[in-house]
Amino acid sequence: MLAPALTPAHLRFLETLFPGEGLVTQPEEMAVFGADSSRRSALPWAVVRPKNEEQIVELLRWAEAEKMPLVPRLRGTGMSGGAVPAFGGVVVSTLWLNRVLDIDPNDFCAEVEPGVVTAEFQALTQKQKLFYPPDPASLKISTLGGNVSTCAGGMRAVKYGVTRDYVLGVRAVLPGGRICDAGGRTHKNVVGLDLTRLFVGSCGTLGIFTKLTLKLLPLPESSATVLAAFPTLVAALEGARGVFRAGILPTAMEFMDATACRGIAQIKDVPWPTGSDGGETTQAVLLLKIDGSASALADEVNRLERALSQAKPLCLLKGLGPKEEEPLWEIRRLVSPAAFQLGPDKMGEDVAVPRGRTVEAVEGFQAIGAEHATHVACYGHLGDGNIHVNIIFDAKDESQRARAKACKEAVFKLALALGGTISGEHGTGITKAPYVSWQLSETERELMAGIKKVFDPSGILNPGKGWV
Ligand SMILES: Cc1cc2nc3c(=O)[nH]c(=O)nc-3n(C[C@H](O)[C@H](O)[C@H](O)COP(=O)(O)OP(=O)(O)OC[C@H]3O[C@@H](n4cnc5c(N)ncnc54)[C@H](O)[C@@H]3O)c2cc1C
Repeated sequence: MLAPALTPAHLRFLETLFPGEGLVTQPEEMAVFGADSSRRSALPWAVVRPKNEEQIVELLRWAEAEKMPLVPRLRGTGMSGGAVPAFGGVVVSTLWLNRVLDIDPNDFCAEVEPGVVTAEFQALTQKQKLFYPPDPASLKISTLGGNVSTCAGGMRAVKYGVTRDYVLGVRAVLPGGRICDAGGRTHKNVVGLDLTRLFVGSCGTLGIFTKLTLKLLPLPESSATVLAAFPTLVAALEGARGVFRAGILPTAMEFMDATACRGIAQIKDVPWPTGSDGGETTQAVLLLKIDGSASALADEVNRLERALSQAKPLCLLKGLGPKEEEPLWEIRRLVSPAAFQLGPDKMGEDVAVPRGRTVEAVEGFQAIGAEHATHVACYGHLGDGNIHVNIIFDAKDESQRARAKACKEAVFKLALALGGTISGEHGTGITKAPYVSWQLSETERELMAGIKKVFDPSGILNPGKGWV
């Protein structure tokens, strides 16, 4: 059984191990460590801020002996409540472990501590003409440790994959204070089971990371972006298929449906036809990025435009190089805030379906919205079938709240019926925990519970989260 609360003796231990600002116990200061971007929150019993691995080893030795629940935490940008101490416990912030230890252009790898902010790391690699591709939209505010713990995905996943594909090694402290140094600097390694991969996406339930070894690529020389607006959803998705058929593998292929386009048009002048002049109205927009050598890109953009033209877009815009591309990507970044033009609250779901089922999925999600008289905006990473479904409502209105929940559950059921998943990016945390058994079989859950027991026999690490 886990400890039900902190005793005075526990507090004395923490005060000794984490002197000064290393321990936070004032409720008003602790509150910020108890919430994340899921908008869920709970007050921690205490917050500790280790400065080094030795403190984490001591903490986990003590926590195992005392059966003390621990909730690892970094920037708290997680969308599923993974860092929220919903079931009590001590929050362990590893934000002060934030050194870039090595960036090596010969081994094409880097060693970092978990608290390094992703965009800051990418800027450092670029100085050496190296490239770390994972690009969650939160990259300026989230950390590499958080990204590895959630296996964060991003727009570039269609060409470059997700965080999992760039983790060569994980050093983690386990309950009881054991250190597991999985993987390393080699790009290939098939000795034993792949413990490194097991840590990726484990959401703080198996160990506390203290060092990550990441794979790097050569930095592409340049990039270009094309935006295409379509009169129907089917035309847009046909345009997307045409791009792949032409043998083009875009770096990013983003999509916005009619509701998302309408929301953006309410806060910004948009470059696509809105029907305000009596002409055709844009029902879907595709935004594609390609990268490579500067000399090859001009030709590649022409091929991309030709492929998209087959689906008869209402307009095509292009940007060559970061300066011209930026205004087009700014539009994409507005989708999430623009949703609030349609209602004060939203549930942002991140389902994914097999790439060949995206038309059925998006049409189905829109039909679910219509059936429940609720705004449903679909957008996101079309290239890898990861569709963000924003269900927009007013939480103060009981009937709207109930309809939004019914919408969410219908969206999950449809995604699963199409062979998809209830979470392509954000993980299950506490917000999707009740739905995990909709996707994972009893056998899978038993195997995962068994693995959890090997790493964390008393269940002290991030209890109650997701599949645990
Ligand atoms: C505006 C916005 C855009 C976003 N866009 C994307 C996106 O495009 N793609 C995407 O995948 N996600 C996205 N997210 C979600 C979020 O940014 C990611 O889940 C991110 O990886 C979380 O990083 P963090 O540093 O905030 O970690 P936190 O939220 O603090 O923690 C995340 C998880 O890591 C665990 N953890 C923390 N520290 C450690 C440690 N030292 N060892 C082991 N586990 C640990 C926590 O317990 C928790 O389960 C977005 C969020 C926002 C707010």
